[in-house]
Amino acid sequence: MTVKAFAVSDVGRRRETNEDSFLLDQGQGLFAVADGMGGHAAGEVASRLAIDTLKEALQRDTPARSLGTTDDAGNWLRDAVVEANRRIWDSIRVHEERRGMGTTVVVLLRAGDDAVIGHVGDSRIYLLRGGTLHRMTSDHSWVNEQVKLGLLSDDEAQRHPMRNIVTRALGSRPDVVVDLVTAGVVPGDVFVLCSDGLNTMLTDDEIREILASHRADPEAASTALVQAANQRGGEDNVTVVVIGF
Ligand code: CA
Repeated sequence: MTVKAFAVSDVGRRRETNEDSFLLDQGQGLFAVADGMGGHAAGEVASRLAIDTLKEALQRDTPARSLGTTDDAGNWLRDAVVEANRRIWDSIRVHEERRGMGTTVVVLLRAGDDAVIGHVGDSRIYLLRGGTLHRMTSDHSWVNEQVKLGLLSDDEAQRHPMRNIVTRALGSRPDVVVDLVTAGVVPGDVFVLCSDGLNTMLTDDEIREILASHRADPEAASTALVQAANQRGGEDNVTVVVIGF
C-alpha cells in the first residue's frame, strides 16, 4: 500500500502566533499534530518539544521498530509520548516562565497494514472509509465528558463556552496516560490528524464532504479544510495532516 500525505498549519484569523506543531514522515509512516497552550509563547515551546521528542525517538529507534509487531509499535508510540511529557514537565521545572504550558498530541504510526493511533488531549484523528467519517479519538475535554454522560449534545459541546477546557495534556503531571487504538488500513482510507481549530469551526459532516471531494489528493484536501476553517472565522490556529492510503 502506498501512502500519500500532506500537512497545512495556519495561524488562523484571530491569533498572532501559531502554537500548533506537526510531524509528517511519509517514509517512516509517522504523523503527528500537537496543539500547545500557555502564555508568553510557551504553548509553542510545548508543542515543539512534543514533536521534537517524537522525531528524535524515531531516529534513535528505527532499526528496532521496523522488526516489530503492531504491539511493539504501540509500545514504542506510548513510550515516545510519555518521554515527551517528561521533557515538557522537566522544562517547566527549570523555566519558571513556562509554568502552565502544555500540549495535546495525536500520533498515527503505520505498522504494516495497521495504523497505531495514540492521543492525549482534544486534537483529533478522523478516518474517512467509503463515504463514512469515523472519529478515531475521543477528546480529553470537559465538554466531551458531558457528552459521554448524556448531559450535552455534540452540537452543544461544539458551541459551549467551556469547550476549550482540556482534561488531559502533556506537561500537566509528571506522568501521562496515552490512549492507544489499532486500526486495520485498507486502500482508499483517508486519515486526518487535526488541532481543534478545525473541528470547532467545521462540523464532522462538513469535514467529511470536503475530504470526500478531494479523496485522492491529500494536498488539495488539507488546503481546502484549512481554508474552510478560516472562512468560518478562523478563531484558532488550525493544523491538518491528511494521509491517503
Ligand atoms: Ca487549539
